[in-house]
Amino acid sequence: VEDFVLHLPEALPDEMLYSLLARIAAVNGMRNHLHVFVTLFGQEKPSSIIRISQGLEQFCSVTDGAYGSVESILARYTVFPLLTHLNVRPRLDAHDRIKQRVWLVGGEFDYMGNTKHEWRECRSCRKEDEARFGFSYWRRSHQLPTTCCCPFHGEALTRKALPGKMLHERFWLPHETDQHPEPANPSLTPAAMKMLADLGKDALDDQGEPYPAEVVRDTFLEMLQYQGFFTRAGMLKLNDCVKAFSSSICVGKCTFLIDNEIRRLLMGLTDSNKSVALQFYLLVVYWLFGTWQHFKERCKWTATFNYPYGNTGYECFPKPQEHERQAALKYYRGVCTDFMRANPAGTRVEFLRREYKSFRWLLRNDSNWLDYRLPLSPRGDNQADLFKRPLR
Ligand SMILES: [Zn+2]
Repeated sequence: VEDFVLHLPEALPDEMLYSLLARIAAVNGMRNHLHVFVTLFGQEKPSSIIRISQGLEQFCSVTDGAYGSVESILARYTVFPLLTHLNVRPRLDAHDRIKQRVWLVGGEFDYMGNTKHEWRECRSCRKEDEARFGFSYWRRSHQLPTTCCCPFHGEALTRKALPGKMLHERFWLPHETDQHPEPANPSLTPAAMKMLADLGKDALDDQGEPYPAEVVRDTFLEMLQYQGFFTRAGMLKLNDCVKAFSSSICVGKCTFLIDNEIRRLLMGLTDSNKSVALQFYLLVVYWLFGTWQHFKERCKWTATFNYPYGNTGYECFPKPQEHERQAALKYYRGVCTDFMRANPAGTRVEFLRREYKSFRWLLRNDSNWLDYRLPLSPRGDNQADLFKRPLR
C-alpha cells in the first residue's frame, strides 16, 4: 500500500458516494472492489460494499480531504441532509445521526431495507454526461425513493432492478447495468412526479441549519390540524388523510403500497414508537405544502411561535430572556382564563380545539398550571395521546 498512488477523480454535480467510490475503484484499476474498503476505509475484512458504518474519518484522511470533511461528505454525497431536515424524532440527536450507517446502493438508499435494489438514471442526463465526460454516473437526486422523474429534464427515469446478489462484491456504473429489466413506473400524475422530484432535489441541496425534530413534527401536525384532519377529540382521521393524499398524487387509484406508506408516516408522526423511513416524509411535504420552500417557511413559523424560547432541548436557539418568558406566560394564561370565563363548562379538549396554539404553548411551558385549570379527563377519553404527553 505504501507505493500505491491513489488517483482521485473529481466529484461530479449531484454525484452520490457510491458512484464516487465506483469511479475511484475504476480509475485506480482496483479489480477487487471490496479492496476499496480496506484501502480507503481501513476496514479489515469488508464483506459487502452496500453500506459503510465506520471509516469515513479514515476516508477523509486517506483522500487528504479531497472530498471534504465527514460532515461535508455526508451533506454532499448522501441522503443525510434529507434525514436531518425531515427528522421528526426528538430522541435522535445530531451526534447519534452522524453514527448512522450510510447506505450506498440505490435500492438501499432509502435505508428501510427495501429489497428492490433499484437504480435510476435519466436518459438525457446520461447522454449529456457521455458527450461531456465519456461516461455517466449515478446522481443522488435520482435515487430518492420518491423521485420518478429527472428534476433537471422532467422525463421519467429509467429504472433498473439489479438482483441483490450482484450488489455485495462490486460496484456498478450506469453503462454496466443496461441489460437489467425496467420495472413499471408508478401511476403518479405527471405534475406530482415533477413536484416530488423537485422537492427531493431541493431538500438534498438544503444547506440550512435543520430545525429541531419537535419543530418539524409540529409543522406537519399543525398543517394537518389546519386542513381539518383531526377529529374534535384530537385524533387524526387516518382514512381521510390517505384518501386526500391519494387523490392529490395518483392517476386513478393509488397503489396499496403508497397508501400504506402514507398511513405509516402519519402514524410515525403521532406515535413516537413507530419507526419510519424519514425520506418518505417528502410525500407528506408534497401533499401538505407543495414545495420545499413552503414547508421550510412553515417550519420557521412554527419555531418562532411554538418555541420562542428554544425549549426544544436543542442548542440552536438563543436562551429566552426571563422578561419575554413572563410576558408570554401572562398572555397564554390570559387566553386560557378568558376561554374558561366564556365557557364555564368548557373542557380541555374544547380549549385545544378552539385555542390550539395557546393550548400547545401552555402544555409545553406551563403544564402544571394547565393541568390544574383544565385537568385531563378522568375517564381518559380518547383524546390523541400526542396532545397529552410533552413531546420530548
Ligand atoms: Zn436528466
